[in-house]
Amino acid sequence: MPLYKANAIVLRNWDLGESDRIISLYTMEFGKIRGVAHGVRRLTTKFGSSTLPFTCIKVSFYGNDSHELKTISQTEIVKSCQGIRENLEKILYGSFLIELIEHLIIGTHRDERIFRFILKYLTWLEHETTEIILYSFCFKLLCMLGFRPMLSNCAICHQVVDNYKIWFSWDEGGIICPVCLKERQGVMSVPKEVIELTKRLISERVETLRTYPVSAQLMDEMKGFTLYFLKYYLTFPIKSMGFIEEMM
Ligand SMILES: [Zn+2]
Repeated sequence: MPLYKANAIVLRNWDLGESDRIISLYTMEFGKIRGVAHGVRRLTTKFGSSTLPFTCIKVSFYGNDSHELKTISQTEIVKSCQGIRENLEKILYGSFLIELIEHLIIGTHRDERIFRFILKYLTWLEHETTEIILYSFCFKLLCMLGFRPMLSNCAICHQVVDNYKIWFSWDEGGIICPVCLKERQGVMSVPKEVIELTKRLISERVETLRTYPVSAQLMDEMKGFTLYFLKYYLTFPIKSMGFIEEMM
């Protein structure tokens, strides 16, 4: 079997029997893959802590079919992101990011930009825990995957929408004006501040967003909008959000 090498981020792992572990990875070169690391739970393992979630590694693996379970032969830690695993809040926030990667990125879709983007947010999360990171990650990732919502012009007639209360249509993938609203069902009323904040989440760097003043009420509305938006694309609920809500 051919040997491959890749840059990867560990998403999740499952222990298999007494010493083996299955690892799911997002790789720069092959998209999402799963592999088994043999002997990973032995004290003298060559894998060390490289199979833990959030770790950025260089990985070597065998396997020639894109859907099969690979055999991981070697790993080397590039960035451990240990700071995330040492703090419960960061673990939950990191788990939210990983759930989005697992559910929104389909199959072996690979994109070097997405790999660097995930690594950037994990690095950011190691240093700072602000809720806005979650929503910024979510909307930026959706845009990179081609699901950019229309937030300035009506998704149907393309007129500029500037009302205080804005209507959002998931079927149309954006806001809709009062004229087009009359013919539509399944729309949601969204405060203008939420639409404006979503635009900033998409267009601005995470470093800038951390200092942007957001009231508790607006953050709450932003969360509602994000989760409602995600429901449209996901067939599974985001489990980590439930834990985050319980903790807050
Ligand atoms: Zn319209």
